[in-house]
Amino acid sequence: MLTLTINTDGAAFTIQSADADNGTPNPGPEVARLLRQVARDIEAHGITGGTLVDDNGNACGAWSLDEPAPAATCERCGDTFDPDQAGTSDDPALCADCTSHNADRVTL
Ligand SMILES: [Zn+2]
Repeated sequence: MLTLTINTDGAAFTIQSADADNGTPNPGPEVARLLRQVARDIEAHGITGGTLVDDNGNACGAWSLDEPAPAATCERCGDTFDPDQAGTSDDPALCADCTSHNADRVTL
């Protein structure tokens, strides 16, 4: 999953010019520049995350790219499931359905 947050409150995300538009919100160009930088970091450098710095040198966000976990096979029913969605740490080899069925059981 790619998670990316950019705070566009800074002056770099506004029009900075000598005319009357100075300071008017205009996040598009700076956001596009940052997205191109992230794309370049991923594609050319294999980087999987970092902080974002706007054109004025101010920290303005962060991003991370995580590889999805490989699918696991439930030891009880044989279904495949995302291990991040597994029921409990007590039984990481069971899918959520089998884990919830376990919880319903009464131990005598
Ligand atoms: Zn199962």
